[in-house]
Amino acid sequence: MTSAESTAPFPIFDGKYRMDREPVVRIGVVLEQDGNESLSLRLPGGAWRVEADGQPAIVDGKSLGDLTVRATVRGVSLEAVAGRIAGGQVLRLIPPSRVEPTKAGDGALVRGIVAGRGFHWSKRADQTLTGVLEFRASGGRVVMVNELPIEEYLVGVITGEMSGACPPEFMKAQTVAARSWLLAQPKAPHQGTPFVWCNDDCCQRYQGTGGWSDAAIAAVRACHGEVLITPTNHYCDARYSKNTGGISEDAANVWGVAMEGLLPMIDAPKGSSVERFFPVTEENLVEYLTGDWLKTTDCFAGPNVCKDDELPRYLGRVDEPGTYFRWRVPVTQETLRESLVKRAGIEDLVDVLDLRPLRRGYSGRLNLMAVDYRARDGARKTHHLTSEYDIRAAMRSSFLYSGAFMLADRRDAGETLAEATLVGAGWGHGAGLCQIGALGRGLVGQDYREILHAYFANVRLERIYD
Ligand SMILES: [Zn+2]
Repeated sequence: MTSAESTAPFPIFDGKYRMDREPVVRIGVVLEQDGNESLSLRLPGGAWRVEADGQPAIVDGKSLGDLTVRATVRGVSLEAVAGRIAGGQVLRLIPPSRVEPTKAGDGALVRGIVAGRGFHWSKRADQTLTGVLEFRASGGRVVMVNELPIEEYLVGVITGEMSGACPPEFMKAQTVAARSWLLAQPKAPHQGTPFVWCNDDCCQRYQGTGGWSDAAIAAVRACHGEVLITPTNHYCDARYSKNTGGISEDAANVWGVAMEGLLPMIDAPKGSSVERFFPVTEENLVEYLTGDWLKTTDCFAGPNVCKDDELPRYLGRVDEPGTYFRWRVPVTQETLRESLVKRAGIEDLVDVLDLRPLRRGYSGRLNLMAVDYRARDGARKTHHLTSEYDIRAAMRSSFLYSGAFMLADRRDAGETLAEATLVGAGWGHGAGLCQIGALGRGLVGQDYREILHAYFANVRLERIYD
């Protein structure tokens, strides 16, 4: 498949969703915003080919082991220890005739790749990548695209999103969701770039072969080519997040548009004590977030199914360990003021007076909230935060775990809110598949089909290529 074909979005027409072969995906791994003027890498042995602007570059006698790719005025240049090898607008490093990678660490080593881009846990780490590595420059920075078969990419996703030590049925469910999501995107999420998807939480986490396990490779192979198809014969936009908190969210309450297959659900066995909270409202919120029922809850995402001290071994390598089913985050006037000015853009805010929840979804996630504040001119004003994402971004410099929260332990100083504790449930937007809930279902022995049908309504599972 040429790069021109593979950069095209996947057009879905009613009844024509099957593919004649496994697609190749183009993933942005090093982006302009990562700020790399150069990149250092090491290729494994074998007859790698180098292409500069579509022409083969002559690399006779030069070792293709340790390499540096540098942004130049005209594009990018490729340098080995012994000197420059090639230069051009687009450089491609093409691996020797395909040998299927089989274990953690297989592939080319690329140093200092960003994970958690834009989040407070953002870090750089070396990653090993299979497939073609393609380089170009943008704004004086190196941009690297990794082009590889989708099934290989998916092993890197399920071992990046969660760990390769998860139960096999969970990993299969996660694979099908990740494959469906990827193919369902109606247009490229990164318009104007040479890649279709990026390697991070903005799209899906993909971290090469570093976290591969035999079980993860086997899980992807066992559900090869399978995607969720909606009743109207579209790929299901199978979103997922870390922890619903016990009740999942309607897609319309998160993104403002309904999505086929993504309906709110109770993530627990039938007859569970959590059922009485569906939907979560201002009236039942305190009990939902803090009630005694939590001690014995059978919610699949709760700590009685997967114990808090066992969870870290199942999480992704860049996830922060924590108790995300229920959590408490202290805030003060100072921290709130700082994040509301910076992250919500309320520039004339001097003092926060009140935070008023105005609208919640089924899972208790706020999607409309009023911020009452004293402005610089002394006037009392109100600013509305109008989406789940904006509310989470504005509450905390490091992004609040979820929008399902209330203010507790509040202390006021005169008219001003002095300090409080945000008491909340869940981690992430909460629509579609719950990763920790699906993990819990895997731990209690559910099959991946059962897991997928629990989270996605009215969909069917189909293999769309061999
Ligand atoms: Zn992205």
